[in-house]
Amino acid sequence: MIKTHPIHAMLRAFAADELPLPLAVGVSAHCELCPECAARLQACEEALARQYLEPVDEPTETSESMPVELDAMLAGILQQPVASPAELGQPVRPAPELQVAGQSYRLPRVLARHHAPKWRHIGAIRQHSLPLDELGARASLLHIEAGGRIPEHTHQGYELTLLLAGNIQDGETCYQAGDFIWRDASHAHSPHTPDGCLCYTVQDAPVQFTKGLSRLLNGITHRLY
Ligand SMILES: [Zn+2]
Repeated sequence: MIKTHPIHAMLRAFAADELPLPLAVGVSAHCELCPECAARLQACEEALARQYLEPVDEPTETSESMPVELDAMLAGILQQPVASPAELGQPVRPAPELQVAGQSYRLPRVLARHHAPKWRHIGAIRQHSLPLDELGARASLLHIEAGGRIPEHTHQGYELTLLLAGNIQDGETCYQAGDFIWRDASHAHSPHTPDGCLCYTVQDAPVQFTKGLSRLLNGITHRLY
């Protein structure tokens, strides 16, 4: 069961097209995995649409009748079912699965085109930078083999981890597929994955390793960023 979700302000910013691209992709992928947030997002979109269509303070005679008509038209559009490819007469072609370390993963639609990543490989960790940079935010796919651990680190900015498959144990909490995990500079953590995992991650600054020998990794943090 999904434990952690985007906050309302983030869903609303996504609906208003105000998020940097890497975060927008993360919210979209989460909503595909989480019916609860998909419904919250739809409510946000409907509220925004109503807001845009509200009459102005002093409506002129010509615009007076428009909002009601637009409202009715919008309500009609929102109630229409989305046509599937089959209904449109196109063959249904399932997106190719991502294959890594003997595992096969189905990606959310918004990430499906990135099914053949060119991994950088460091021990149990594989990382692939996605071409989604915007406003200083950078996105990666991260695969960690069963039993793998990321040494303790903090962040200079934020870190979003959307768990696409597998699990992550972080302190007392075990996260599952779909969890939308938000961290900032106040969190030092050393997550590990009992069963292995595939994540979509977004950061706006390199991570800082904090302990012992792993501080040596600070020289290669650009590889995890
Ligand atoms: Zn959710």
